Amino acid sequence: MRNICVYCGSSARVRQAYLDAAAGMGRALAAHGLTIIYGGGRTGLMGSLADAALAAGGAVIGVIPDHFHTAELAHPGLTALHVVAGMHERKARMAGLSQGFLALPGGYGTFEELFEILTWAQIGLHARPIGLLNAQGYFDPLLALIEHAGAEGFLEKARPVRPIAEADPERLLARLMESDPAAQEDSG
Ligand code: AMP
Repeated sequence: MRNICVYCGSSARVRQAYLDAAAGMGRALAAHGLTIIYGGGRTGLMGSLADAALAAGGAVIGVIPDHFHTAELAHPGLTALHVVAGMHERKARMAGLSQGFLALPGGYGTFEELFEILTWAQIGLHARPIGLLNAQGYFDPLLALIEHAGAEGFLEKARPVRPIAEADPERLLARLMESDPAAQEDSG
């Protein structure tokens, strides 16, 4: 895994603990030499993640739709910023550049991105690992909903796809690497 796509909240009106968790994830990704591919924002957890990774010497690539490409929204100091025509192109570019996916706490945008990549895994379009940074237990209700959907028969049984959830960034990355089919091929 070289590049990892990170989906996370753009809202700044959240508890400091969430911003700190995003910073911790950014530092861990930088320490492992993983390039972050993300939405290119400067606000909320997006900004916190990018700032911390850059400060730790990591590489961070933003992919931003032109309508978000403003001084208030776009991060000014990234390793690279791809400006694309719209939301669909943005998601395709982010996924195309990445060998793994992470969601941090966020709102509708984060949920939508996470569920699209889970859906693509379930229908066999990719087999790359998908993780959740379950900071402050934020994703507990979502994980319960996923279990409920599985128990009620709404999820594929033959190809069970579940996100790997951990509260600790290092533990999350370790489990993501373990589960990565490409990394296992590389190592033997
Ligand atoms: P949300 O969780 O609703 O805040 O949406 C965050 C996700 O949607 C991010 O992973 C981004 O890819 C995208 N997004 C939403 N707002 C912005 C923004 N202001 N700048 C860049 N990307 C954004």
